[in-house]
Amino acid sequence: MEPIHLFSPAFRVEEALAEVRECLEKGWTGPGYKTAEFEDAWRQYSGLAHTHFVNSATAGLHLALRLLKEDGAWSEGDEVITTPLTFVSTNHVILYERLKPVFADVDEYLCLDPASVAERVSERTRAVCFVGLGGNIGRYGKVLDFCRARGLAMILDGAHMAGTWIGSHHAGSDADAAVFSFHAVKNLPTADAGAVCFARQDLDRSVREWSWLGIDKDTYSRTLGAGPYRWKYNVEHVGFKYHGNSVMAALGLVGLRYLEQDNTQRRELARWYDEELTGDSRVAGIPQPEAFLSSRHLYQVLVEHRDEVMLGMNRQGIFPGVHYADNTSYPMYSYALGSCPRAQWASERLISLPMHLRLTRSDVRRVARALTQSLGAS
Ligand SMILES: *Cc1c(COP(=O)(O)O)cnc(C)c1O
Repeated sequence: MEPIHLFSPAFRVEEALAEVRECLEKGWTGPGYKTAEFEDAWRQYSGLAHTHFVNSATAGLHLALRLLKEDGAWSEGDEVITTPLTFVSTNHVILYERLKPVFADVDEYLCLDPASVAERVSERTRAVCFVGLGGNIGRYGKVLDFCRARGLAMILDGAHMAGTWIGSHHAGSDADAAVFSFHAVKNLPTADAGAVCFARQDLDRSVREWSWLGIDKDTYSRTLGAGPYRWKYNVEHVGFKYHGNSVMAALGLVGLRYLEQDNTQRRELARWYDEELTGDSRVAGIPQPEAFLSSRHLYQVLVEHRDEVMLGMNRQGIFPGVHYADNTSYPMYSYALGSCPRAQWASERLISLPMHLRLTRSDVRRVARALTQSLGAS
């Protein structure tokens, strides 16, 4: 039988090639052109008024921290409250800025628990980084209210949340900065790209410089501009090489056209998994809060003897994943080991079942059977 993998991006090949062809024929594959088109399309779709297309969500998260740190005159060693249940990007960028990741525990949604956040706050806390794990919004609203009351910045790591809606608002529309990933296996896949969306227009203006080495004018605007001295520019900061390019944006434009349709299909897959698995007391699902529409990047369950269960599934040609190992188990965050017992407990039991658009109803049944049989054997 065909193996079933965790992720498998489904590109609309002909449409994607047509968009990329336009870049090649125009002779413009770098930043500008399709990146500007993508930014407009994402703004229109999400309502996030300031969207900057970058080369990854990691870059976007780093820029979010750098600009908020500059703007708020934070000092080295100031603290950012964050989750241990995330891809390491979320936390590495805090270290890039010589700030201190302070880990708070997660709740039953596997997102930051507002009560734990409140416990971990100190006079050096400057920001909270909230991760919507698998597209789940968790208690984001409560954490945001807390940030507002305490004057802390809210950064949403929305790497799993392209197309997550809270009522008519896209996830992140009320954060100081929201960051999305368009990496190959995320909901809106390119090969590698992301977006950073600031609430403030002035920060959006400066992020365009910061993401291109601090140069105060981009090549595209200079090409469009008329008059003498088009070649001239100033360098205002020691910025980074983090901007996106037109080939990635071309792929993103096509993906965005199908994002709603794809996420609807993901929610259907989740419903099928629910049908197969609810009622089996050995498999705990992750609750979803009411009144929000998840992008459903992941379908996660919690089981005992996780490692053996995974091996059992592998033997049946099913290759699930784990999101994530508790980050405090890694050497650079081990100072916080044991400080987030719920995250640690979950990270030893979590399985992400295959979740991608090529899966059929019978694939989902096959995955669920492999899971329950492996549970029986473990
Ligand atoms: C994938 C991911 C990132 C990083 O995204 P890139 O675009 O690959 O840099 C950040 N945070 C989370 C939660 C992720 O899953």
